[in-house]
Amino acid sequence: MSGIDDLKARVCAAVDAWAERLWDTSLTIHQAPELGYAEYRTAERLCALLVEGGLPVERGIAEMPTAFRATVAGQVERPCVAILAEMDALPGLGHACGHNLIGTAAVGAGLGLATVAADLPGSAVVLGCPAEESAVDDSGGKIRLLRAGAFAAVDAAIMVHPGTLDLVSMSTSLAACGLEFEFIGQAAHAALAPDQGINALDGVLHTFSGINALRQHLPPSARVHGIITHGGTSPNIVPDRAVCRFRVRANGHVELSAVAEKVTNCARAGALASGARLVVRETTPVYAEMRPNAAVAEALFRNLAAVGRPVCTSSPDERRGSTDFGNVSQVIPAACASVAIADDTVAIHSPAFAAAAAAEPARRMLVDSAKALAMTAIDLLLGSPKTPRA
Ligand SMILES: [Zn+2]
Ligand SMILES: [Zn+2]
Repeated sequence: MSGIDDLKARVCAAVDAWAERLWDTSLTIHQAPELGYAEYRTAERLCALLVEGGLPVERGIAEMPTAFRATVAGQVERPCVAILAEMDALPGLGHACGHNLIGTAAVGAGLGLATVAADLPGSAVVLGCPAEESAVDDSGGKIRLLRAGAFAAVDAAIMVHPGTLDLVSMSTSLAACGLEFEFIGQAAHAALAPDQGINALDGVLHTFSGINALRQHLPPSARVHGIITHGGTSPNIVPDRAVCRFRVRANGHVELSAVAEKVTNCARAGALASGARLVVRETTPVYAEMRPNAAVAEALFRNLAAVGRPVCTSSPDERRGSTDFGNVSQVIPAACASVAIADDTVAIHSPAFAAAAAAEPARRMLVDSAKALAMTAIDLLLGSPKTPRA
């Protein structure tokens, strides 16, 4: 068997050889952003590269047309490292979370590993994971992949996410759920017969007021943020239907369910005050809090350092979001690295971050990430210096 350093040198050389194609693909995906579960062209482009690199690709796994699995078949099937490829975009903003880079970095790692497959004492899979962003209903492609058994033969999972600093965090992410409150009232002429109307929009406005008052009494880590998706049709008609949506986040699923209940109570109060009928709907499954595995994180950390990224493991001003990778990390050893494409003056989910996801630093992030992911897979498969099941 080749030495570990030799394997790493070969995968890095392979990633360098694919670098221009990976960057072109990332830019093409960036220019034609697709929302969750509709990443058809995106998945097509990523899979085309994997096939070109000689990897067998299964499309439409776990009953999701855009989910895919490419397998780097080593000498034996297990252990198996999964490299996760997110690929969805945000409505109105495009790739303002940089998932074009996550997808292509994962593919790049798979292409690198393909060149050393015969020397690997285990296997790797590149998993195309749809709909990470909660902007679409029933988001959380990784949760569906988990339920369908796509991680059943996986021993560790790794991914990168573009960010504003190089960080392999050992912190958890926030657990999150999605709630929709629909208020059903009664239409009436807003001037001639307002007493005959039931104002559904008032139900929504009371909900926001209640939640804003509630914030003072929530745990410090809780986040509640919402939008009005329907607020009526015309000012001269009492709105008979109004809808708002919230994302509720908290420090773990126990705290989350308590906060979600209080938020729902605000909607119930809005229904009572307005007279409108309330329909509550969960728009996404719960995204569990991330449980980073120390050994996997350490391997990612070390390999990002090897490609010249002075990674940190914590940040004094660490902001936490949520991810369906949290659900994966609850059942198998997992870690995610943030790799910088902009400085911390640039907000993720902003037009500036979308621009950064196609700018020059992103090209370096893509190549560095693909190499670090592939080298981490090698470390985990060869069990050196630590095994993922620590
Ligand atoms: Zn995002
Ligand atoms: Zn993201």
